[in-house]
Amino acid sequence: MVRATAIHKHFGALHVLKGVDLEVAERELVFVIGPSGSGKSTLLRCLNRLEEPSSGSVVVDGIDLLDPRTDINHARQRIGMVFQSFNLYPHMTALGNVTLALRKVAGRGRAEADAIGQAALARVGLADRAGHMPAQLSGGQQQRVAIARAIALEPRVMLFDEPTSALDPELVGSVLQVMRELRESGMTMVVVSHEMGFARAAADRVLFMDEGMIVEAGPPAQIFAAPAQERTRAFISQIK
Ligand code: ADP
Ligand code: MG
Repeated sequence: MVRATAIHKHFGALHVLKGVDLEVAERELVFVIGPSGSGKSTLLRCLNRLEEPSSGSVVVDGIDLLDPRTDINHARQRIGMVFQSFNLYPHMTALGNVTLALRKVAGRGRAEADAIGQAALARVGLADRAGHMPAQLSGGQQQRVAIARAIALEPRVMLFDEPTSALDPELVGSVLQVMRELRESGMTMVVVSHEMGFARAAADRVLFMDEGMIVEAGPPAQIFAAPAQERTRAFISQIK
């Protein structure tokens, strides 16, 4: 579903990604860990061309994202992204936020967009919050609206960048539960997070990134319990 090959990313003199290869199979959940500044967010952003890699190739669901002929707005509908900061429009209701791209990008009429949006909100457990403004929702509910907004577009893959890091601890569980259900529904997912319990329970593979490279990858049991690399071991021992 995702094939990123030899990705390099420079920000001026800063070499942030140093030849990253990442393949994600359909229905796979790949979990990415690593110290702050190691390039996790930049890698995710390269997977939907929020950042343009300096070199390398990114193919998602058969679409070459770096081909100048690719309609990137069309391609991005197939690649849902959820950020640490929920990025909801504060002046729009939950349903308004979920249906905006359906109407403006996917070209659905209002009635159809509303029906799809309601169904997406129901999937994240917020059927009764459609008319609420973001400020009237908890952080966990706002993040679930952001997930509903992404899944309403029927993405082929979902990218999560620290989706629970901004949440009070008691609100984390509701968001992880929605992610678990998405995973069970067969969604292909790439998740950057520090929620190791979730990784143990739900991830097919864990990648450890450091200094712009994937240092080690393997099933969660192996990466958490018996990492082969010293750098991985040091990182895991800090976060446990
Ligand atoms: P992580 O998500 O693992 O914390 P990031 O991908 O956010 O790491 O950042 C990796 C490095 O790239 C950091 O040194 C960060 O300061 C730098 N960086 C990220 N985005 C930009 C940008 N737009 N311009 C300049 N430097 C950036
Ligand atoms: Mg980050």
